[in-house]
Amino acid sequence: MAGSFFRVRCPDCENEQVVFGKASTEVACAVCGHTLATPTGGKADIHGEVVETVEHRTEATDGATGSS
Ligand SMILES: [Zn+2]
Repeated sequence: MAGSFFRVRCPDCENEQVVFGKASTEVACAVCGHTLATPTGGKADIHGEVVETVEHRTEATDGATGSS
Protein backbone atom coordinates (compact mmCIF):
# COMPACT_ATOMS: atom_id res chain seq x y z
CA MET A 1 0.00 0.00 0.00
CA ALA A 2 2.41 2.62 1.24
CA GLY A 3 5.36 1.01 -0.45
CA SER A 4 8.45 -0.44 1.10
CA PHE A 5 11.63 1.02 2.41
CA PHE A 6 15.04 -0.47 1.87
CA ARG A 7 18.08 -0.24 4.05
CA VAL A 8 20.83 0.37 1.53
CA ARG A 9 24.54 0.14 2.17
CA CYS A 10 26.55 2.77 0.38
CA PRO A 11 29.17 1.11 -1.83
CA ASP A 12 31.63 3.90 -1.18
CA CYS A 13 31.56 4.43 2.58
CA GLU A 14 29.38 1.56 3.89
CA ASN A 15 26.95 3.94 5.52
CA GLU A 16 23.55 2.30 5.85
CA GLN A 17 20.63 4.48 5.00
CA VAL A 18 16.90 3.87 4.67
CA VAL A 19 15.59 4.67 1.20
CA PHE A 20 11.97 4.73 0.11
CA GLY A 21 11.36 2.12 -2.55
CA LYS A 22 9.37 4.57 -4.62
CA ALA A 23 11.50 7.64 -4.06
CA SER A 24 10.49 10.40 -6.47
CA THR A 25 13.71 12.31 -6.08
CA GLU A 26 17.32 11.26 -6.21
CA VAL A 27 18.60 10.02 -2.85
CA ALA A 28 22.23 10.63 -1.96
CA CYS A 29 24.32 9.08 0.79
CA ALA A 30 24.22 11.36 3.84
CA VAL A 31 27.88 10.73 4.50
CA CYS A 32 29.67 10.85 1.17
CA GLY A 33 27.04 11.98 -1.31
CA HIS A 34 27.10 8.85 -3.44
CA THR A 35 23.79 8.42 -5.29
CA LEU A 36 21.87 5.60 -3.62
CA ALA A 37 18.61 5.81 -5.53
CA THR A 38 17.28 7.46 -8.63
CA PRO A 39 13.62 7.80 -9.55
CA THR A 40 12.43 5.88 -12.58
CA GLY A 41 8.80 6.90 -12.61
CA GLY A 42 7.75 3.88 -10.60
CA LYS A 43 9.97 2.22 -8.07
CA ALA A 44 13.34 3.80 -7.49
CA ASP A 45 16.48 2.33 -8.96
CA ILE A 46 18.67 1.39 -6.00
CA HIS A 47 22.43 1.85 -6.33
CA GLY A 48 23.92 -0.12 -3.53
CA GLU A 49 23.45 -3.27 -1.53
CA VAL A 50 20.00 -3.69 -0.02
CA VAL A 51 20.76 -5.13 3.40
CA GLU A 52 17.19 -5.16 4.64
CA THR A 53 13.68 -4.55 3.41
CA VAL A 54 11.72 -2.48 5.89
CA GLU A 55 8.02 -3.16 5.54
CA HIS A 56 7.10 -1.22 8.63
CA ARG A 57 7.81 2.46 8.70
CA THR A 58 8.86 2.65 12.32
CA GLU A 59 12.43 3.48 11.40
CA ALA A 60 11.71 5.75 8.51
CA THR A 61 9.09 8.18 9.63
CA ASP A 62 11.37 11.15 9.29
CA GLY A 63 11.39 11.16 5.51
CA ALA A 64 13.65 8.22 4.82
CA THR A 65 16.78 10.26 5.08
CA GLY A 66 18.36 8.14 7.77
CA SER A 67 19.16 9.47 11.20
CA SER A 68 22.49 8.07 12.30
ZN1 LIG B 1 28.44 6.93 1.28
